[in-house]
Amino acid sequence: NSSQTFVNDPETDFAVPENQERMQKALIAVRSELGLTVPIVIGGKRESSEETIDRADPSDTSRIASRMSCATRDQTERALVSAAAAFPAWRDTPPSERGALLRRTAQELEKRRFKIAAWQVYEVGKPWREADADIAEAIDFCVYYADEMERMTAPRRRDIPGEWNSYIYDGRGPAVIIAPWNFPLAILTGMAVAALVTGNPVILKPAEQSSRVGYFLMEALEAAGVPAGVANFLPGVGETIGPVLVSDPRVALIAFTGSKDVGLSIIKAAAETPPGQREIKRVIAELGGKNAIIIDEDADLDEAVLGVLASTTGFSGQKCSACSRVIVVGSAWEAFQSRLAEAVKSIRIGPAEDPATTMGPVVDEASRERVQKYIAIGKTEARLLAQANVPAHLEDAGNYVPAAVFYDCQPEGRLCREEIFGPVLAVLRAPNLDEALTMASDSPYALSGGFYSRSPANIERIRREFRVGNLYINRKITGALVDRQPFGGAAMSGVGSKAGGPDYLLQFVVPRTITESV
Ligand code: GLU
Repeated sequence: NSSQTFVNDPETDFAVPENQERMQKALIAVRSELGLTVPIVIGGKRESSEETIDRADPSDTSRIASRMSCATRDQTERALVSAAAAFPAWRDTPPSERGALLRRTAQELEKRRFKIAAWQVYEVGKPWREADADIAEAIDFCVYYADEMERMTAPRRRDIPGEWNSYIYDGRGPAVIIAPWNFPLAILTGMAVAALVTGNPVILKPAEQSSRVGYFLMEALEAAGVPAGVANFLPGVGETIGPVLVSDPRVALIAFTGSKDVGLSIIKAAAETPPGQREIKRVIAELGGKNAIIIDEDADLDEAVLGVLASTTGFSGQKCSACSRVIVVGSAWEAFQSRLAEAVKSIRIGPAEDPATTMGPVVDEASRERVQKYIAIGKTEARLLAQANVPAHLEDAGNYVPAAVFYDCQPEGRLCREEIFGPVLAVLRAPNLDEALTMASDSPYALSGGFYSRSPANIERIRREFRVGNLYINRKITGALVDRQPFGGAAMSGVGSKAGGPDYLLQFVVPRTITESV
C-alpha cells in the first residue's frame, strides 16, 4: 500500500547557515528579475498579450514584483482547442508514464526550490519558512498522486468460469485549474497534477496575485517532458476568462480553490450543458472557513496560546484553514486572555524577506482595506484585547495590518460570521463544553477546527461531535500535510474532496467496467 511508504518532503531548516545563505542568495537573484513579464503558454508555445497587470511587492509596494500577461478571449479559445486536441492521446498514455511525469516534475521543483521560495517572498509577501513549506507541499502532491495512481491502476479483476470482469479508470477530459494565491505553488500543483496523472489535459489559471510563482509549475512540467498541449498556462483576469473557461462545452472538469461565492457560481455555471458538451462537468471546489478552536477548562494554556497564535497569524491569517474564532470554556478565560494578549504583542511584523519577521504583510491593498474594515467593525461589535502594531516606518511602505484579537464578541456579529482572511481573531466565552460546541458549530462553514484539553472524555466527545473536515486536538489547525492529514471541508467549505488524501483522484476519472463472456 503506497500510503504506508509515502514520506513527506522535509522542510528546509533555516537554522542551518548554508540554508540561510542559499535563501539570501536566491532573494538577491530574484530581486534582479523582478518586473519580468509572465508569459502565456498554449500548445507548447509562449505568447504575450498587449494587456498586462503589474503586481506590487506586498512588503514594499513601491516596487513591482511581477507583470502578468492577461490572456485574451482568443487565447482562451486556443487554449481550449489545444487541451481538447491533446485529450485522446493523453488519456491513452499509460498511467505509469503519467506518474513518471509527476515524479520528474517533483525533482524539477526541488531543483528550483530556493528560487521559487524567494519569488513567493516578493510576489505574495510570504515569509521564508512558509514559502519553503509551500514548495515541499507541491512536491508531496506530485509524489503522492503518482503513488496513488499506481494504486488505482493495480488490476481489479472479478473473473468466474466463463466470464471475465475488469474495472478501470479513464480520464474525463480537459480540466480547468483555477488556483488561489495563498499557497501559490502547492494548491495549483496539487489540483493540476491530480488532473494530469489521471489522464486529463489541463489549462492552468493561476491567481492574478501569483502568476510568476504559478509559472514555475509550467516550467517544471515542461522540463519534466509534458507533451505540448497537455499543459497550457493561461494567466489572466479571473472575471474575464474564468466564465469563458467554466462554461465551455469542451471542459469536463473544473478544480477550484478560493472563495465560497466564486465557488458556488462555478458550480452553478457548470451545471449548464451548452450544445456540444459531452460530459456532465465535475467540479472539485475547496472554499472558505470560519474556523474555531475550543479551549477547555483544563487545557495546557501555554500550548493553546501558541497554537491559536500560529493558526491565526500564520501567513497573516490568509489560509482557509486559519483560526478566526476561539471559544474559551469557563474558568480558563482569565489566564488564557492575559497570556494570549502578551503573545499577540510579541509578534514581529515586517517585510517577508527579513528572516526575523514573524508576520509579513497581506497580499494586496484590497486585502489590507478589508482587514482594516473588520478591525473597525470589531471595535464597534466587541472589545479589543490586544493588537500587534505595525512599526511606524512600515505603515505606508507595504500592505501591513496589525494582528488584532477581540473579546466580548457577538456570536451573531459580523466578526464571528464572515470570513476575514486576515489576522483578526474573535474570542467568545462559553459556560461549559456543551455551549462551546454549539457556538463552534454555528457557522455555515465546516473546514478546520481545534480543541485544547487534557480530559480524555471531553476529547472523545469532541472527536464525535465537532464535525469539521480537519479536526486538530492539542495542536494548531493549519499546515495539513499531504497523506498524513488529507485536507478539505464540508458544508459551505467545499464539495468534500480531500486534497492529499486517498479519495482525491477518484473525482478526476470516469470508471469503466468491462465484462467479457468467454
Ligand atoms: N492546506 C492548508 C492548511 O492546512 C490550507 C489550504 C488553504 O488555505 O486553502 O493550512
